[in-house]
Amino acid sequence: MQLKGDFKLITGLEFVNQSPIGKSSRSNPVTYVKAYDSMRKLMSEQPLSRIRGFETRHFSFNTDGGRCEACQGEGSQTVEMQFLADVHLICEDCKGKRFKEEVLDVQYHDKNIFEILEMSIEEGATFFKGEKDIVRKIAAFNRCGFGLC
Ligand SMILES: [Zn+2]
Repeated sequence: MQLKGDFKLITGLEFVNQSPIGKSSRSNPVTYVKAYDSMRKLMSEQPLSRIRGFETRHFSFNTDGGRCEACQGEGSQTVEMQFLADVHLICEDCKGKRFKEEVLDVQYHDKNIFEILEMSIEEGATFFKGEKDIVRKIAAFNRCGFGLC
């Protein structure tokens, strides 16, 4: 058998062997909270961010800069299957972590932005204990989330 054709097509075939992810990577609780802005600011204030010139936008997967370019910060890539439903596969470049490696190097209390975004609201509230602004926003979301405001 011979393999001929566009190189891009061959790369696409490799993806078929990767395991699909079940849920949308954008459905993350802490990202719904306004606290995300404050978290990004906090990350941009870490010493390594200063050295590398990272600003708050580098810690967003909605804008260019720090997000993985291959998947545009989705963490997954969509393979369009002819006659079949699209298949979502973990991004080869960032392995589903949605950001560039140099951005993931930046840590706050041993967690990078990807790990922080993986936290539930409860985990976030504990993790950011010392950051009043973030805790306040998480707490506000929690109350409203439970219909208490
Ligand atoms: Zn990616």
